[in-house]
Amino acid sequence: MTARILVADDEQMNLKLLEAKLGREYFTVMTAGDGESALLRAQEERPDLILLDAMMPRMDGFETCRRLKADPELAHIPIVILTALTARADRVRGLEAGADDFLSKPVDYTALLARVRSLVRAKFVADELRLRLETRDALGLAREPELDSASLRGRLLVVEDRDIEAARIRDALSGEHDVHRVSHAGEDDIVGLVDDRDLVAISLALREVDGLRLCARLRGADATRRVPVLILVPDTPEQHRRRDTGLELGVNDYVMRPADPAELRARVRTQLRRRRAEQWLRRQYRQGMELAMTDSLTGLHNRAYFEAHLDRVLRRSDVDKPVAMLLLDVDHFKAVNDRHGHVVGDEVLRELAQRIEGVLRSVDLAARYGGEEFVIVLPDTDGETAITVGERLRGEVADVPFTVSGEAGRVPVTVSIGIATSMADDGAVSLLRRADVALYRAKNAGRDRVELQSKA
Ligand code: GH3
Ligand code: MG
Ligand code: MG
Repeated sequence: MTARILVADDEQMNLKLLEAKLGREYFTVMTAGDGESALLRAQEERPDLILLDAMMPRMDGFETCRRLKADPELAHIPIVILTALTARADRVRGLEAGADDFLSKPVDYTALLARVRSLVRAKFVADELRLRLETRDALGLAREPELDSASLRGRLLVVEDRDIEAARIRDALSGEHDVHRVSHAGEDDIVGLVDDRDLVAISLALREVDGLRLCARLRGADATRRVPVLILVPDTPEQHRRRDTGLELGVNDYVMRPADPAELRARVRTQLRRRRAEQWLRRQYRQGMELAMTDSLTGLHNRAYFEAHLDRVLRRSDVDKPVAMLLLDVDHFKAVNDRHGHVVGDEVLRELAQRIEGVLRSVDLAARYGGEEFVIVLPDTDGETAITVGERLRGEVADVPFTVSGEAGRVPVTVSIGIATSMADDGAVSLLRRADVALYRAKNAGRDRVELQSKA
């Protein structure tokens, strides 16, 4: 994985060292000698990750971090603050400035690289989603919402079998979140508890289950892949190695045991913020997909969706269960527009869509094919049944005039319907063509009629 990393440090030696270490891992490295120039370079270069020295003259790392996070264009870039300070208060200060992580100097390069990879991986996922949303952003449709403390309240699962540790964690987090603890449970049971949680904290020193294996399983399964995982790491050299393995596996963050309450809160908050942003992006994307499949005037599916749907239905259907297609066209619709105007014409189309929907079963699908033409797909339906449906629909339209706004009041409308049913090896195109021929016959025979395809 390659990524572009900006490193800011006022000591030339540190810059050179980090540049060499990261360069050897094929990262592209940019450097800045102080906070001000780090801000400038970040604006120009849009790096994938920023490493900030905490102590720099004029603008320190905390302030630089705060400003980067306050810029909507840059706020999504992950930031790691590096510091010789070891006080917990400073770690928390860094996290509260919006940093994604905090590592102490002298730098442990294995831990740093593991951290960098995991943060960059998360950023690439978010970038991908953002990219898909770019057009909507350009149209001003999507604005990421501000997150308040209510929306940051999360449902957390804590997997910790030591009572004292579990109590510490509960005390630290239960004010802001709903905390559920599991102590002695098998791997499967724990995995089953995870999928609707906003975050899982897992001890690496569980006695009955291998915490790392659990992390790997959560990352591997679709239902749990996106749930942030935070590991609780006992402070021993062996567990440090396991922590780095965990980060390679895609664990999102870690806290050293015994967990410092303020640090734990800050790290959980950071993860929830990212989780909410990702959920929002995915929701927007789904809505975008819906928009792309829907006809905006009537709310029915559009032609693109209908064509994809018909292909699927035809491939699934077998010979003795044909698919019926109804092609419906409003009679003399041009006259409605000419007499009452386009607005009334649109109202008629909207109400027509509702009347169509009212006649259909849930497995049937109606779409606006274009203009004043609609298509309806009836799975498992023979010609005779399709005629019954077509006649019912024709009556629903013709029997009651359409209520519209303005002087027109009520407008009589009729439709003509052509029906075709699928034959062996039928494709969407030939089925549509036969329905179209039948529709043409209905029009020629005087309109307000239903016609079935002639026998082939
Ligand atoms: P026929 O009975 O032969 O189908 O006659 P027709 O007037 O319905 O057929 P024609 O294809 O000549 O005209 C269709 C009209 O539908 C022309 C067009 O202005 C109108 N139309 C198409 N889409 C819309 C729309 O979205 N809103 C409105 N108000 N009118 C539309
Ligand atoms: Mg037409
Ligand atoms: Mg027409």
